[in-house]
Amino acid sequence: MKSKTYNFSPGPGKLPRSVLQNIQNELLDFNNSGMSIMEFGHRTKQIEELVNETAERVKRLMKLDDNYEVIFMQGGGCIQFVMIPMNFSEKGEKVDYIDTGYWTTKAIEEAEILERDVKVIASSADKEYNYIPDNFKTRPEAAYLHICSNNTIMGTQWHNYPKVEIPVVIDMSSDILSRAIDYSAFDLVYAHAQKTIGTAGVTVVAIKKSFLKGIQKGLPNMLDYNSHVEKKSIFHTPPVFSIYVVWKMLYWLENEIGGVDKMETINNKKAKLIYDFIDSSGFFKCTVESSSRSIMNVVFRAPTPEFDKTFVEDALKENIVGVEGHRSVGGLRASIYNPVSLEDVEVLVSFMKEFVRRYG
Ligand SMILES: *Cc1c(COP(=O)(O)O)cnc(C)c1O
Repeated sequence: MKSKTYNFSPGPGKLPRSVLQNIQNELLDFNNSGMSIMEFGHRTKQIEELVNETAERVKRLMKLDDNYEVIFMQGGGCIQFVMIPMNFSEKGEKVDYIDTGYWTTKAIEEAEILERDVKVIASSADKEYNYIPDNFKTRPEAAYLHICSNNTIMGTQWHNYPKVEIPVVIDMSSDILSRAIDYSAFDLVYAHAQKTIGTAGVTVVAIKKSFLKGIQKGLPNMLDYNSHVEKKSIFHTPPVFSIYVVWKMLYWLENEIGGVDKMETINNKKAKLIYDFIDSSGFFKCTVESSSRSIMNVVFRAPTPEFDKTFVEDALKENIVGVEGHRSVGGLRASIYNPVSLEDVEVLVSFMKEFVRRYG
């Protein structure tokens, strides 16, 4: 077994060691029950409490009040792309999207399949999605505006969210609870795991109650947000183990890190360390506009694709994994979600320095 691996994978990715150890310690005996968390029926009191407590913890950390419902769902980000137009608009109704690459492109496609009147009111496709658009206008009659907070593949992130008159729906799969923002500025926030908050198999959705009221009638139950809200995430068998990991992760965030503000400070330091080195290296390049750079996914490249390949290979020899860029864009990427520590990033930057010394 390797003593230590530095994991910069884009997702699923690193989990805090203390969380994994804690899970291991109680895997055979959850809360003195003599049973594993994986052996409980999903309608038992213990699981009902676990689910409710996890939802409360999400709300507390997002600083959401009782105007919001928090639910856990399956089907990942991809089912949200479908359910959002399905629930909050009808066929032919106007829905606005901002296209910032890969994931929003998928969301737009689903709304089009459902025959909504989709308008891409802004896009950064003209510059290979290397910036967040800041010039756009929503249609007053549109049912909602859909944006993606952090563009995991392109390495861009909203730093000033749009202020518009229509409801805003936001994909926060890769940056939820990584920084202290005003989450109540949104009508619906969704985040699949696993990036910043848990293990794969669960998606967290926070919905404003007033927005829920407008849901379409006649939807299949499973695809109706109200089914999940009414049954407090236990409309059907929920991913119990994944929710449990989210609960552990949030405990870690709240009690070991010290909350979202502290997390943001650490995340900013991590990102600054890498970007500063890239910009001063005269070797690596980050083509994302500086005002749009993500503090979660640092997308960069070496002078040639051959060097990119060598970088990934040499990194592996130092137990640094997950640094290749997404297959759709190439290059390199360091994903530095909440569980990745400042020390991990220092190891990566030292390796990058050594790489420049060797080949630069
Ligand atoms: C990873 C990711 C998703 C993934 O959705 P799944 O359907 O759960 O695979 C969606 N949106 C964003 C922004 C992501 O980074």
